[in-house]
Amino acid sequence: MHNHTHTQSHSYHPQSRRDFFRILIGGPLAGASILELAWHRAAWARALAPTADAQLFDIEKVAEGVYCAMARPQAQINCNAAIFVNTSDVLVVDTHSQPSAAASLIAQIKKEITPMPVRYVVNTHFHGDHIQGNQAYRVAGGKVDFIASEPTKQLMSDLAQRRVQASLDGVPKQIDAMRGRADKAGSAAEKAFCEEQIRQLQAYQSEMKSFTLELPTITFEKSYVIKDKAHELHLEFHGRAHTAGDVVVFCPERRVVATGDMIHGRFPYMADGFPRSWPKTIDSVAALGFDKICPGHGPAQQNRERMTNMRDYIAELTEKVEAGKKAGMSIADLQKTITVASLKSLRSPDYLKYLSDNSYDMPRFGRPVQLQDNVNTNIADIYNNLEKP
Ligand SMILES: [Zn+2]
Ligand SMILES: [Zn+2]
Repeated sequence: MHNHTHTQSHSYHPQSRRDFFRILIGGPLAGASILELAWHRAAWARALAPTADAQLFDIEKVAEGVYCAMARPQAQINCNAAIFVNTSDVLVVDTHSQPSAAASLIAQIKKEITPMPVRYVVNTHFHGDHIQGNQAYRVAGGKVDFIASEPTKQLMSDLAQRRVQASLDGVPKQIDAMRGRADKAGSAAEKAFCEEQIRQLQAYQSEMKSFTLELPTITFEKSYVIKDKAHELHLEFHGRAHTAGDVVVFCPERRVVATGDMIHGRFPYMADGFPRSWPKTIDSVAALGFDKICPGHGPAQQNRERMTNMRDYIAELTEKVEAGKKAGMSIADLQKTITVASLKSLRSPDYLKYLSDNSYDMPRFGRPVQLQDNVNTNIADIYNNLEKP
């Protein structure tokens, strides 16, 4: 079995960012201005960190041979990757927004984890921030398979090109907004932050103009098992949730699961989702024997607490929106009556603060999204997607 050493030298570790928020935020419902301030400072600090260019991920070991690469904030959002080290090769879960980001992770895996090649890439679902980097693994050379569920392959062929184009269409407006903000910047740090955002957006533009979609080479319906001498990796579809085709990667020996965006540390994104199935799908995943979670976004999770929080939030909000819709209420009516404070699932002692910490680490081009804004977006998406099975 390959013996690898794991060396970490982070000049800017996520822990220090969380501590930073902890100091700034008095309580979970502290005022927006404090949150905005914290968000800006954290984003600037990251943009100005000496390694910001070179390193896009913070890699954390979650179990023997299993790592969670947590994405640092970028103008174009990147997902986390889960990394499973087999006996003579590597499996990586999800590939970020652009091939250069995946290439940067490949280099970091070589430097920090193992020189062995990446043999398998799993796409948990079809969203751009999880699939658009696939090509980097093809270009890296060697035999590689891309694995996904059948619905994910279908959604990728139907929508991926169009969504890349939509993201490119939005970039000029984002650059203009950043230029405007740079002109009015209140400090040298803010100006530098804006310039770094513009640089990242232009880099995305020039790279993605010639985007090549790399489709899954292996698909499966319910499960696909990779049997390695070191451990087994179970790729499983448990039902519809964040999309029609979400899969998880579960390692029974290491008691870890990688969950994509079905389970993560932020408010759920529900525009392509199945709100009534989602909690049941999480319940089905929860029956697996794992302790730790490498989520699609946000920090690695050391236990099941946040998974349960997220499940309960989706279930409660869906129930309330469904009841309101049946009673003839509009989306706007519901957004007025279903407040952050009215939701039992957000009352758990520190879940709200956890969401605050983890929803503010990507540039928002203006006012950072507030907690109620997130709930309002979820209300609208649930309302529109309720009839989906
Ligand atoms: Zn995502
Ligand atoms: Zn997603």
